[in-house]
Parts: sequence; C-alpha cells; structure tokens
Amino acid sequence: MAGKTRIEDMAVFGGSPVFAVAKSTSNLLQPDFARFMAHSDLFLQAQQYIDGGPAVELLERRLAEFHQTAHCVTFCSGFWALALAITALAIPGKREIIMPSLTYRRMPDIAAWLGLTPRFCEVETDTLAVSAATVAAQISDDTALILAPHPIVNCCDAQGLMQLAYERELPLLFDSVESVYESVAEGRVGGIGRAEAFSLHACKLINGFGGGYITTNDTALAQQLASLRHYGMDVNGNVTLPHGMNACLNEMHAAMALASLDDIESQVQRNRERYYTYRRRLVGVPGIRLLDFDERHATAYKNIVVELSDGWPLSREQTIRILNAEKILARAYYSPPLHRRPMDIASIPVQLPVTDWLAERFMNLPCGHLVSPQDIEQIVDILVFIAAQAQSIRARLREQEQEGA
Ligand SMILES: *Cc1c(COP(=O)(O)O)cnc(C)c1O
Repeated sequence: MAGKTRIEDMAVFGGSPVFAVAKSTSNLLQPDFARFMAHSDLFLQAQQYIDGGPAVELLERRLAEFHQTAHCVTFCSGFWALALAITALAIPGKREIIMPSLTYRRMPDIAAWLGLTPRFCEVETDTLAVSAATVAAQISDDTALILAPHPIVNCCDAQGLMQLAYERELPLLFDSVESVYESVAEGRVGGIGRAEAFSLHACKLINGFGGGYITTNDTALAQQLASLRHYGMDVNGNVTLPHGMNACLNEMHAAMALASLDDIESQVQRNRERYYTYRRRLVGVPGIRLLDFDERHATAYKNIVVELSDGWPLSREQTIRILNAEKILARAYYSPPLHRRPMDIASIPVQLPVTDWLAERFMNLPCGHLVSPQDIEQIVDILVFIAAQAQSIRARLREQEQEGA
C-alpha cells in the first residue's frame, strides 16, 4: 500500500487493492511437505487407506497424548464428531439442545440432523462465552444436552458449566474446535467434562485437510463413538447400533493432521508474533479494541478479533466493505447471530438482547499461515488511514450508495 495518501487510492473508490492475493481469516496451515509424505508412507506401506489404518491410529494416540486424555476418536469432520457425540450423550426422549446464538453458524444444522431443537442462550459480554448463568436461564424439562463452545478468543468458564451440569444432571459437551492448544484452570482443554469436540478443517489450528475428533476419558463412550462412526459396528464387525453411517477419517487426512501436529509449537510462536504485531499497532487506533488472549494459560493466539466502539468513525459494515475491497477479508464476528438467522430450522423462540447488542460490534481480522507480520503492518496502516480520513470517506460512501440506489 506504501502510500495511500488520498481516498481515491482506496480500492473501494477505484484504486488498486493493497494485496494482490487476498488475506483471509482462515488458518490454512501448510505443514512441512516432507513430514506429510513421511506420515503418508505409513498407510502406503500398509496399503490401508481408510477404516482404522496406521496413520489414523497414530494420530488418535498422539492427540490423546497431546490433550492428556485416555481416548481420542477421529471423524471425517468436526460436524459429524459433534453430531455423533451428541447422539451418544443426549438424554433420550428430550428434545432441546442449549447452545449460544453467537457461535459457529452450522450449529443448528447439527441439531436438526439429530431431530433436536436448538434453544439459544446468551453469552457474557466480557468473554463472549456461555456461562452457567446464561445456560441455566434456558434449561427446561425438555433439555437433552448443553453444548458449550469455547469462543474463538480464550475459553468459557468450564468449571462453572461443569458444576451446573452436575447439579442439574444434564450432559455437557464442549465444542473446543477453537481451543485446541488452550488450557484453563482445570488443565488442558480436551479432558474437561464428558467429552470435547475438535475439527481438523483446513481453517482450524491443526490442518488435516478436513476431519474432526472427540477426546474423552470415558472408555465406554469412546467405544460407542468408534462404533457410531463406522456403521454402528462393534469391533467384531457386528452391527449393534442403529442408524449406521460412515463418518471415518481417511488415512491421507490423518497423515496431514500428523504433519500439522508436528508443527504446532512453531505455529503457536508464529501466531504469537502476528498477535503481538496487531497489538503493538492497534494501540494507537481510536475506537478499535483488540481482544486480548489470556496469557495466564496456554493459548494458540490463533484468531484476531477486534471490537469497534463508538469512537470508531464508520459502521462495521462500511469498514468491512472497505477492507474487503483492499483484499483484506475482514469479517463480521459470527453474524448474524443464530437466533436472527432466517432459518428453515425451527428453534425455541427466545429474547437475547445481550447477543443482539454484541452481534453488531466485533470483527475478525486476517490471521493464519498466509498472513505475515508485514501484512499486518499494512492492514493496520489502512485502518489508521480510514480513521484519519473518516469524514471524506463517509461522504464518498454516501455518494456511492446514492448512485447505486
Ligand atoms: C469449524 C467449526 C466446527 C465444525 O468443524 P468442521 O470440521 O468444519 O465440520 C464446529 N464448531 C466450531 C466452533 C467451528 O468453528
């Protein structure tokens, strides 16, 4: 961008974009190719490509070790890891699943596949996470399960949620997709509660092209999940569970995930440098507050989320439009919230004023493997430029909108 000096230089007004190749919020980790090939050799030698080959076996062992849990069961996606864990854990005969509205947008679809109805709850304003209080407000006689996703920056109050689940005798499942590397006071994420769900999608911390896994210390649950993902068969090949399906992770994806896992410490260091670059530069930008990682515990520094406060001169949508034109793929944070999503999936009607308010304020900025500290300098330069030129930018955007109308 070296020198956007006039607003005519901005891509949204016809100038050329800062980046030739778009900078996204997806992690897109590219692990060492030689390691991927070495891990692939495992299944090539064994000539087994899916259904419990050596790479999947090794990955499950290493992930269990990483999360310090007794078991890890892999799946073809995080989606099906969650769906089958819910199948195993939900109270039979009950129909409601409590989940936040400000979260991963496919969450209601998972409930729908299982014939369950989402009942959305609030999140806390300071953590953007569910808490015992926000969940308790939605517990009914028909609650089948509490689904608690950790937010994309830091973790929810796991202890409080476990206490609530224990007192109300409800199953609690953590969606820990965005907290692979994180720890909380109770220890490493993975071993908390009955089970935790993770994803190996290319946009997450561990890139397995695609895939997912569940960690648990519950041996019977691990066996049940291993059976559910494989046609409901037991270890002897007899079908013992209904609704057979195939949700197994294949060997090539496991080899990729292993290579990504090999790289994880180094990735976290690189993420930390990205985060600190944003932090150093954003301090001086009025109206933008970077969500800080809680460094009292282990964190992967993966996602960059900012809050746009009243001091920021443009709307979030205008800001995102300007950044996207520069090929900076900033995104509205979990927007629209799920209870506002025009949905084919029925949910229990609820009022969520806190979520409504929060849903307008946050924005994800580019991060991940393909975003360098130099890129981040340029991204923040644009934000600084926007802040300095806000008045004329606003006027020009208004003209544009009128022309377009
Ligand atoms: C991505 C994601 C999932 C789903 O994982 P897939 O592997 O893409 O199916 C679930 N929960 C959260 C919070 C996610 O971000």
